[in-house]
Amino acid sequence: MPSKKKLFGTSGIRGKIKEEVTSQLALNVGKALATYLGSPANVVIGYDTRTTNQMLENAIIAGLLESGINVFKLGMVPTPLVGYATNKLNADAGIMITASHNPSEYNGIKLWNKNGMAYTPSQEEEIEKIYHSNKFIKPQWENIGNIYHIEELIDDYVEEILNKVDTTAIKEAKLKVVVDSASGAGSELSPLIFRKAGCEVISLNSQADGFFPGRNPEPNNANLKDLKKVVIATKADLGIAHDGDADRMISVDEKGRVSEFDKLLAIISKNMVNESNKKIITTVDAGLCMDDSIASVGGKIIRTKVGDVNVAEAIIDEKAVFGGEPSGTWIHPDFCMCPDGILSGLRIAEIVAKNGSLSQLLDNIKDYPNIREKIICSKEEKYKVMKNMENLLTDAFDNIDNINSIDGVRLTFTDGSWVLVRPSGTEDYVRITLEGKTQEIAEYIKNKTSAIIKRNLNNNYNNNY
Ligand code: MG
Repeated sequence: MPSKKKLFGTSGIRGKIKEEVTSQLALNVGKALATYLGSPANVVIGYDTRTTNQMLENAIIAGLLESGINVFKLGMVPTPLVGYATNKLNADAGIMITASHNPSEYNGIKLWNKNGMAYTPSQEEEIEKIYHSNKFIKPQWENIGNIYHIEELIDDYVEEILNKVDTTAIKEAKLKVVVDSASGAGSELSPLIFRKAGCEVISLNSQADGFFPGRNPEPNNANLKDLKKVVIATKADLGIAHDGDADRMISVDEKGRVSEFDKLLAIISKNMVNESNKKIITTVDAGLCMDDSIASVGGKIIRTKVGDVNVAEAIIDEKAVFGGEPSGTWIHPDFCMCPDGILSGLRIAEIVAKNGSLSQLLDNIKDYPNIREKIICSKEEKYKVMKNMENLLTDAFDNIDNINSIDGVRLTFTDGSWVLVRPSGTEDYVRITLEGKTQEIAEYIKNKTSAIIKRNLNNNYNNNY
């Protein structure tokens, strides 16, 4: 019997191989998805470069076939290709086997809708219910599914993605780009696509390898030391780094600096706003530079819950032109509803080609003093204190312009300064994130918010922590 442990986390099913993620789990997820979709149905499947993919892919496919589902195999591809192919083939669902930026010993399963958007939490709940019920559809032997190979769709993806950017402008700018795929799913395709777009490409960590020998697949400042060095040493215009499944991207400017996430998102968002559509989606934790940049082109910013599926849903509801999280997970609805790190990188290359150096573009964005603080507390205290947070904050502060309680509580003040209080989804703390128009204002907001939270935690706060 499968365990009753919660199956889906913030980004699909994810865990350590053999401990949390097993072939038995994959088999039953295949059967549960089939039962949710009903037979017959068509499902696209792909995987990243992890060494445990074959085990999981074969198990999940066995579960699907036995339940009367036809399987369309892409092989080793970036996650956005699963979204693209599911949409293109009008398949009933897509499956990506990946643990994204987690280390080698992890793996996971993420599900995709017909339109290329990730499964929503309520869809995942449905699958989870079926999984735990252990009641799966069982068609007759003559209705077992078939496997089809669809690797040729990869060429269509390359062609269509290149149509989304101005390759003439990119070619004319003669950009030199270092592409670092972390030996993950972007290893083959990302350098190839940048080359086809007209860039001179130097590839780094582009041998597919599930042990990620070159660097940790999380594309953050600490893990991108080599990319920064190579950008400087080769006098490149731009560095592009992906996570393990290439649905994310972060850039390095020509001075070898990893771009600040909020600023990079502000640059692309500003460029995506156009005459016919000025709506941009981002999450509650995105900073003031987003408001400044989007306001400068007459755009409208809508903030939603943290998580790429929430951004995708808001893009559809609001008919927005673009949406992204500061983490580098950006969704381009003119192409697909799945976050796409390769298209994100290409669009940054296009902006650099048309506007000059990335360092200049980033340095032109105003900095605001920002503070992040964790307040450690027990799980019970965390949710208890959050229950009353909106009242506590609105009672304590004056000059509130806007209250957003879609995900934690975010207050925006009349001068533009803001504070967000959110409970951590996985650990026992409450996080305060804020920006102030001046350092003094930032400190004032931090001290006041921190004191409110501590005062309202259990009385033994001081004794325990
Ligand atoms: Mg990822």
